Amino acid sequence: MTASQVSPFFYSMQENLIDGLVIRVTGGEVWVEKPDGDLVQCQLRGKLRLKKRGFQLVAGDRVTVKPPEASGAPWTIEGLEDRDCWLSRFIERDKAERIIVANITRLYVVAALESPPLHYGFIDRVLVSAEFGHVDSSIIMNKIDLSPGKDIERFVSVYSSCGYPVLTTSAFTGEGVDRLSDEIAGGVYAFVGESGVGKSSLLMSIDSGLDLKTRTVGDKTGRGRHTTSFSQLYNFGQGHLADTPGVQTFGFPGTDGVALQDCFPEFDEYAGHCRFQPCTHSHEPDCEVKQALENGDIVDSRYRSYLNILAEVDERGKRSPR
Ligand code: GDP
Ligand code: ZN
Repeated sequence: MTASQVSPFFYSMQENLIDGLVIRVTGGEVWVEKPDGDLVQCQLRGKLRLKKRGFQLVAGDRVTVKPPEASGAPWTIEGLEDRDCWLSRFIERDKAERIIVANITRLYVVAALESPPLHYGFIDRVLVSAEFGHVDSSIIMNKIDLSPGKDIERFVSVYSSCGYPVLTTSAFTGEGVDRLSDEIAGGVYAFVGESGVGKSSLLMSIDSGLDLKTRTVGDKTGRGRHTTSFSQLYNFGQGHLADTPGVQTFGFPGTDGVALQDCFPEFDEYAGHCRFQPCTHSHEPDCEVKQALENGDIVDSRYRSYLNILAEVDERGKRSPR
């Protein structure tokens, strides 16, 4: 009798399978956290390794693992749950999407109005990538102690109008930080933002014990830290914090403009009513998205971000005809 002929129940009884969470992947090394909190280094079973070309486990993947049969032998990863959502970016060299982390409970895009100055384009790019991978996002406007209330309110209204929750905080005075802390429970969280906006300060006010270095496991050679496949989770409050290397520079993970439109949730109610279907909402006449922009129902900066990313995706398409 082969493994594929036995019932899943018999199989799990026999094989002593345990649920696990992938914490770190570097090259061929996969570290998995068991329900008791222990980390074990695992090997992929052959059938998973061969699953499909380009397949790669990432931090945040939920797996089933099997203990070694002999002492000294490695644990093995026997199964992989479908991903609920993922954060990814486009890798020029591979001309393909590369997933950074899976199963994020919530992504926080952190920004400030000044020092550093606000870049709407950056925020929108992160939000678009999150939408592409079905990740729920919130925005944190930090450093509210530095800016006038009316400017903060204007910012909040831009993203509230698109349906995103916006939190306002000051890691300096502590204002709003409790509300943010209350949201952080047992899930996997990512904080993305330009350097200097206050990410580390906020993370430390939520979990003063957070040390991004102590969780580095099994990396004897240091290789992997700078590769695009590197991803890692850290203990954070009752849950985990996703490290998101390279998210400063990522490109839209999708390959066409239609996928891009779907990543602007506020376009939804208009896009279906344009005269041309599909409509790129750029040059076509009788475009309801452009009409909504004129009416002030879609925000200028969001539409500009859309056109910028669309131009990039089109340019990419020209360089490598499909
Ligand atoms: P990161 O690069 O996003 O991790 O930003 P940091 O947490 O290192 O913060 C950058 C600088 O901004 C530090 O000097 C912090 O003390 C300061 N900072 C962080 N949050 C606030 C805030 O809410 N208000 C003010 N005034 N300064 C802050
Ligand atoms: Zn249109």
